[in-house]
Amino acid sequence: MTFKIALLPGDGIGPEVTDSAVKVIKAVGENFNIRFKFKEELIGGSSFEKYNSPLTNETLQTCYDSDVVFLGAVGGYKWEQLPHHLKPEAALLKLRKELGLYANIRPAKIYNALIDSSSLKKEVLTGTDFIVLRELTGGIYFGQPRGFDKTRGWNTMEYSVNEVERIARMAFKLAGKRRKKVTSVDKANVLEVSQFWRNIVHEIHKDFPDIELNDMYVDNTAMQIVRNPKQFDIILTSNLFGDILSDIAGMITGSLGMLPSASLGDKYALYEPVHGSAPDIAGQNKANPLAAIASVAMMFNYSLNMSKPAELIEEAIERTLALGYRTSDIFSEGSTLVSTEKMTSCVIENFNEIFNEQALGVFTL
Ligand code: NAD
Repeated sequence: MTFKIALLPGDGIGPEVTDSAVKVIKAVGENFNIRFKFKEELIGGSSFEKYNSPLTNETLQTCYDSDVVFLGAVGGYKWEQLPHHLKPEAALLKLRKELGLYANIRPAKIYNALIDSSSLKKEVLTGTDFIVLRELTGGIYFGQPRGFDKTRGWNTMEYSVNEVERIARMAFKLAGKRRKKVTSVDKANVLEVSQFWRNIVHEIHKDFPDIELNDMYVDNTAMQIVRNPKQFDIILTSNLFGDILSDIAGMITGSLGMLPSASLGDKYALYEPVHGSAPDIAGQNKANPLAAIASVAMMFNYSLNMSKPAELIEEAIERTLALGYRTSDIFSEGSTLVSTEKMTSCVIENFNEIFNEQALGVFTL
């Protein structure tokens, strides 16, 4: 079987980290004997430059025709002043909507080798392993009316029953495969849309009696992630709150450059690093490719249903970090500063090494 991947490198460091992801996918394919077919398309600012549109029908069609989509990042200073619908970020919102990607999975897991580079204390961080499950196609990023004039600006935060039900179900199912705990995050003390969200989540919870559910206000959650991140297993939340909380989760685990993500719908799936296009370091071979590479691990897990390659990629990342290799965003005294390309080749070397060790039966657990 050939697995079809739509590649959307995008802008800034997007192409650099996508290149790393492709190299890792090919290495996995060689070891596990899986064939991949890649089709690359423009998206974001690079698409606007060529077609005057950040997302063309052709790019969309390639996504529809593929098994999964892999995206680098979009955006940059150059396109900041464009009208809303022509901005690179609008392409991403439209793509998620068109592909029906309503669930965004962002794991926050501590790599042992990086524990000392976090701004949090080791004892607070050790054992942290949670997922921010963010609703992705509803809420304030899409609600109408929206706009601004000379005297005011406005947006609309809105959720329908179906939108909350399906993401809540996914949260409880994911929790069932993990530590069986869902924290539903809202602002129900102030927002009616949050009261509605909370009611639906509790309704759906009745179908999952073995899963523990608690509610938490978003401001408290921001504090709790920093105070005691180990308490969380699945954080279930809306589009806007999830956007912010996952960046906080990013910083406690070291760097945005370490955070992968998966966006899932009923038919399509998109994998991308959480970080943006980082225009400040674009084109310098400095970007941390590990978020993109860890997104590849998620792709094997969620879209190919192959947990072994995913596990080996994670182990290869852990081993590379343990050997002291660091890109500049995670660099600390005593470690070895490496480029995007070097970090990628180290991960692949370690992946091949671990694969061979396991094939030779070195690990006989
Ligand atoms: P950003 O994530 O691009 O960068 C924030 C900071 O983190 C920068 O200092 C950057 O150098 C650093 N950083 C990010 N990823 C890194 C990596 N892999 N390795 C090393 N350092 C890394 O966020 P921003 O600066 O707020 O946004 C820049 C552009 O990206 C904007 O146009 C924004 O709209 C866009 N953006 C796109 C996405 C996406 O495509 N999914 C997400 C967020 C932001």
